[in-house]
Amino acid sequence: MTEQQLEIGDEYWMGLALELAARAEALGEVPVGAVVVLDGKVIGEGWNQPISGCDPTAHAEIMALRAAAQHQRNYRLPEAELFVTIEPCTMCAGAIVHSRVKRVVFAASEPKAGAVVSSAQVFEREDLNHRVDYTAGVCAQQATDQIQAFFKRRRQEAKAARKARQEMELNKKS
Ligand SMILES: [Zn+2]
Repeated sequence: MTEQQLEIGDEYWMGLALELAARAEALGEVPVGAVVVLDGKVIGEGWNQPISGCDPTAHAEIMALRAAAQHQRNYRLPEAELFVTIEPCTMCAGAIVHSRVKRVVFAASEPKAGAVVSSAQVFEREDLNHRVDYTAGVCAQQATDQIQAFFKRRRQEAKAARKARQEMELNKKS
């Protein structure tokens, strides 16, 4: 097992990731934020932006890893830690392994697409030649509240749009 306990400072870094998730939300994207931390400093920030960026790979983790690797001028980040507000998907878990990040900390689990403890356990795979430690559940409630509020608002907006359309069609008929 590579699962680890919460460390001092984890909640602080997750707080920054939650702030970055709000940036995604401001773009109309699902709110997910990530930071890469090395030696007590943020070396990469990312927020979810696939729709606005026309980029299916533009998840928060990928954006943060890219920024961190550019910052280090190195495609590998062996001593770094990645903090993300939602459990990484298979794509991001794969990118995390490629980056050689030492440890991943996530807030809320993602029962459908989560690839660390939920639908898949990528970091437990014996065939991968890099082991990633991970810690789950840091600031989980805040991340869950953030994402649930987003989907609730989106459902309400969709409902309002449907209602407006129906009224328009009724007006046309009368
Ligand atoms: Zn992802």
